[in-house]
Amino acid sequence: MIFKFNGGRGAILCSKCGVILKSGSQIPEYVWEAVRNGTVSQLPDMYCEDGCERSMKMLGELYTGETKNVGE
Ligand SMILES: [Zn+2]
Repeated sequence: MIFKFNGGRGAILCSKCGVILKSGSQIPEYVWEAVRNGTVSQLPDMYCEDGCERSMKMLGELYTGETKNVGE
């Protein structure tokens, strides 16, 4: 699992696209426990519920125009 501190609050990030999935009080207790124990990276990875479709689309919109020649 990818866990980051975000301005003093914790955040769980999608292991594929890096979008914030849960933060602050949404983070389950077992994750905080792993953070304290230093084992949070050993927890199972978490991903967007939609398979990153929404975030990938957002990223795609950021890059359109610049990287059109993908797949040559
Ligand atoms: Zn994702």
